[in-house]
Amino acid sequence: MAIWKSERSDYILEKALAGERIAPPEALALYESADFLRVMAAAREIRNRKNNPSVVTYTMFRVVNYTTFCNVDCSFCSFAAPMDSPRGTTLSAEQIVQKMREAVAIGADQMFLQGGVNPNLPLDYYLDVIRKVKDALGLHIHVHAFSPVELLGMEQQTGMSLRRILRELKAAGMDSVPGAGAEILTERVRALLSPKKAPVSEWVRVMETCHEEGLPGSANIVFGSEETREEIIEHLSVVRDLQDRTSGFLAFIPWTFQPQTKRFRTRHVPSHEFLKILGICRIFLDNIPHIETSVMVLGQGVGSLALHAGADDISSVVIEENVLKSYGLKTEEKARQFIRESGFTPVKRDLLYRPLKPGKWDNHLSGNDE
Ligand code: SF4
Repeated sequence: MAIWKSERSDYILEKALAGERIAPPEALALYESADFLRVMAAAREIRNRKNNPSVVTYTMFRVVNYTTFCNVDCSFCSFAAPMDSPRGTTLSAEQIVQKMREAVAIGADQMFLQGGVNPNLPLDYYLDVIRKVKDALGLHIHVHAFSPVELLGMEQQTGMSLRRILRELKAAGMDSVPGAGAEILTERVRALLSPKKAPVSEWVRVMETCHEEGLPGSANIVFGSEETREEIIEHLSVVRDLQDRTSGFLAFIPWTFQPQTKRFRTRHVPSHEFLKILGICRIFLDNIPHIETSVMVLGQGVGSLALHAGADDISSVVIEENVLKSYGLKTEEKARQFIRESGFTPVKRDLLYRPLKPGKWDNHLSGNDE
């Protein structure tokens, strides 16, 4: 039996290496019975064909949590404040500009606007924030903003169509969207984790409309709760099918749940399982160019191995809300050192994954010693 399993896994990996798409049951077979080192090796080979084998990219953005009020109440979330809570906050456009000004001063050129679903905020609030950031700091500041659940909240609040809202946000200066809030895209897991969040079909509708309106972005998966292996593969299938229609996902990021609240059970995801899933993401999502890994959740050891298991980007030096610090890699210099020590050349990119012009860190590449 063991030999049969090994042969089947090898056949599936050879098929992927030959450039053929693998089917969901084949991805599940890899998850269930393949040697994780073989999955990592095949994923790395496929990554090297799509991306520069010697380069790992990174970026720097600041997360700005514009409001902590939220009426959705996901069981895993410790961030949100109920709508009547005295601890809830909403930042003014001026406060957000000031936060971005501080981040720009230390090298960030991108802002990730993320908040709860706050029905008290009109569309003008979001438009004003984006315009003021661009006016104050320049059009080159990339605004990556609003997960599907926040966009659905705007749709409900305004009564306008999603398409019209997106056009107004884009005209104000929004550049891309995170495919956040996906967690596990099956109705069973959503009913367990976030029953008030929109169903899978709505997540797909929002992302598809964003892509059609010229707002690309990323997608992710967050596992390590009560999902089954089949549901992880089902999630990847939802993303791959949507990407076949739009090509709007530039990157995919696998994450694990972290214990945040007492209402929510997490399970420990061992490193080998995380690396195997990351490798399967690279192999299965043959239509998404970049796979990111983050050192924030599983640490630098697994983060480094992930770069040898199909990932080509370390996500970002995330400058967190409230204080200018980040978890994991705290500075650009540390991020570059981590990439070098993992065996790659660090290259800073923008949020569309284009390499930026060599800066002060890249003198050794450009031959400029100034
Ligand atoms: S929608 Fe977002 S902010 Fe609101 S409870 Fe869920 S995870 Fe938290």
